Amino acid sequence: MTGNIKAYWQNFIGGEWVDGATGERIAVENPATGEQIAEVARAVPADVDGAVAAARRAFDSRVLWEMRPGDRGQMMLDVARHLTAMTEEIAVLECADNGKTLANGRNEVALTARYLAYYGGMADKLEGRQIPLGGGLLDYTVHAPFGVSAQIVPFNGPLPVGARSVCCALVTGNTVVLKSPEDSPLSLFKFAEACAKAGVPKGAVNIICGYGEDAGAALVAHHDIDHIVFTGSVETGKSVLRAAAERVVPCVMELGGKSAAVVHADADLDRTAKSVARGIWFHAGQICSAASRLVVHRSIHDDLVARLVAEAEARSVGPGAEGCDMGPLISEGQLARIEALCRAGRDEGAKVATGGSRVPDCKGHFMRPTIFTAVRPEMRIAREEFFGPVLVVIPFDTPEEAIAIANGTDYGLAAGVFTRDLKLAHWTADRLIAGQVYVNEWWAGGVETPFGGTKRSGYGREKGQEALLGYVQTKNVGIRL
Ligand code: NAD
Repeated sequence: MTGNIKAYWQNFIGGEWVDGATGERIAVENPATGEQIAEVARAVPADVDGAVAAARRAFDSRVLWEMRPGDRGQMMLDVARHLTAMTEEIAVLECADNGKTLANGRNEVALTARYLAYYGGMADKLEGRQIPLGGGLLDYTVHAPFGVSAQIVPFNGPLPVGARSVCCALVTGNTVVLKSPEDSPLSLFKFAEACAKAGVPKGAVNIICGYGEDAGAALVAHHDIDHIVFTGSVETGKSVLRAAAERVVPCVMELGGKSAAVVHADADLDRTAKSVARGIWFHAGQICSAASRLVVHRSIHDDLVARLVAEAEARSVGPGAEGCDMGPLISEGQLARIEALCRAGRDEGAKVATGGSRVPDCKGHFMRPTIFTAVRPEMRIAREEFFGPVLVVIPFDTPEEAIAIANGTDYGLAAGVFTRDLKLAHWTADRLIAGQVYVNEWWAGGVETPFGGTKRSGYGREKGQEALLGYVQTKNVGIRL
């Protein structure tokens, strides 16, 4: 299965494939087997310097900015075409490198192609305003690019998460240095390959892999970047913001979540159970907007929990390459952290309805789909992000109480409402503090719908038309005629 994966991958800087400045390498592991599948060149601060310099040269050359916007858009469609032609290869990579199922790996490519098509199609539709100032004056606004956009990507969905930021940056005339996640770097190198094949100007996209505290920190603190897009955890996000503050660099921050699905007494329980099950166990819960808290009316608590336990126990857990429903966690470190948080939950009095531990006697980092009941909102398991396949269930008696519980964490990424009552759905959606609310279907939405956080889940939006506005700054030109 992993036999065809290239053994060594270089960084992509200034349109060339290059080794790291120190010659060191980072080993890439298959989380389903614990075996090394490849090595990547380790980027260190000297490589960051080279990548930022390449991006600066490309930006200063104005090659993207002076292109007709429609041609920039066409370039994104060409990247999508080259990427799509590599679907099977990338799906296998995502399986081996990231623990995705093959179907999910294919979906990631299709989703990335959708982002490229969507933003490619918008490249020639981002228009400024003409502002009337009376006789003798002409005034207009321009959506000007920032310059060099530094982008940092998490491990869970590197291809679509990375590519959506890169294409927003390119269609608005910025250039990019992207640091891929050290735990799952391979698919973004295929994206770089697609960019090269599509004729994206040299230096406009630079993709490097290094450790966060080293290459990542050097990139966000670099003296010659103009913009940051960070997707990752709140803790890392705070350190990125401290670096950004030193140079007053604008940021898009896509951080973690602890998203609540509020289920009212009249909800369609079959539909709700299936939707919440997918919302928490897809990609083993390693999704920022996972449905990780179930806030359920007490009258249907036992019935819904029983259905969810059945959903959990029906899922096969194992390598995606073998067609299992749920793959591994990315690393032993993540698995150990999640198990420790489960132990804290038990110690605080929560009950394990199913799962609660790793899959025994296997080399991969597999965790069983887990449900905790008897959870109180103040418990750690109700407040902290697992970023794993763990659902915590909290009952409520009144809609007001449901809102207080759902809004009662530091996070505010996503939320859901399940009810047959449209008025109650709207009442609930209106009061939930979250960047996006899903009604009667977790993840209702798509590439077209804006996505991002409130509170500690961050700010700025990716996806949808709104995302493009995070990559431009309004410049006003006033002319005395
Ligand atoms: P992480 O914060 O540990 O790492 C994210 C990236 O930051 C990695 O590339 C890492 O190398 C880099 N990094 C680490 N330290 C750094 C530093 N000091 N300076 C600069 N970069 C540094 O997160 P993770 O474990 O890779 O991903 C999981 C987290 O990401 C979860 O909290 C999840 O909710 C969040 N996430 C958010 C979104 C979103 O769109 N809101 C999407 C996916 C994941």
